[in-house]
Amino acid sequence: MNELLVFVCDGAPVRGEIISISTAWQAVLERRNDPPAVRRILGDFVGAATLLSASLKFDGTLIIQAQSKGPIQFLVVECKSDLSMRATVKLSVDSSEIAPNASLGELLDATSSGRLVITLDPSDREPGQPPYQGIVALQEQQGGSIKPVASAAEAIGLYMQKSEQLDTRIWLASNDTHIGGLLLQRMPDSGGHAHIDSQNAAEGWTRIQTLGETITNEELLTLAPETTLRRLFLEESTENGVRSFPPRQIRFSCRCSRNKVADVLRMLGEEEVQGILAEQGAVETVCEFCAKPYRFDAVDCLQVFKTDLLSDATRPPSSGH
Ligand SMILES: [Zn+2]
Repeated sequence: MNELLVFVCDGAPVRGEIISISTAWQAVLERRNDPPAVRRILGDFVGAATLLSASLKFDGTLIIQAQSKGPIQFLVVECKSDLSMRATVKLSVDSSEIAPNASLGELLDATSSGRLVITLDPSDREPGQPPYQGIVALQEQQGGSIKPVASAAEAIGLYMQKSEQLDTRIWLASNDTHIGGLLLQRMPDSGGHAHIDSQNAAEGWTRIQTLGETITNEELLTLAPETTLRRLFLEESTENGVRSFPPRQIRFSCRCSRNKVADVLRMLGEEEVQGILAEQGAVETVCEFCAKPYRFDAVDCLQVFKTDLLSDATRPPSSGH
């Protein structure tokens, strides 16, 4: 099951999403060799990226990056509007040095250097036009002290709050085989919910959040989205109406290519590449997202520098790729 279910409440200005990801998550993990504590954090961020990308108003890519001077140097999850995703992590220490129960705060150095960067990149973005990017520190000031975030859900909550998005609550759980998640978002009181007065709207938002808070990790990790929806909102559905849309499929997909590796070689420059060739006989690299190997021998490299046209390697391709 790799499903995302979107639902709307008729009696409250709330839109929600429930995900259950299994084989697509296993496809990410089987290409990697991360310690357990890192896998859990990565899983939660994959869940978050999927939930957030499904609420995008445009066609494009949502990228969650966490970076720090802690044991996790960086973590990247990309999810496109069609719910295809890929993820990677780079550690600055040996895997064996990471305790199985290490927290997100420790691994991402949340009290000091840890940052969360969320990028929204529309596929029809003009060359030269920067994508939208929001950055938050992974900590909250509480009185005189600094409180590190404890989970990916909390980190995303902080970002949503700071970037003045719609009120949003997220619950996430992940293990070595499954990722589960729930998102609740308060919609503007006007628009489709104009029939609800502002007091009822506020009460409705509180009521739906209270129901959301009853979700357990066990439920998130084991139930199909439709079952979770029925369990959580049975009474709300009977009394006020809750409507769901046909489930959408989530899948693992990497968009690395030989052309993009060639672009990287062009950025390195001919001199640098000739140096690698002289030393190692060929330029060999492995995609950090899907572990696909790429090899360029001397003839390939000659070909690469015949065309000095640099395509934009850092920019995700437009739709159709
Ligand atoms: Zn790849």
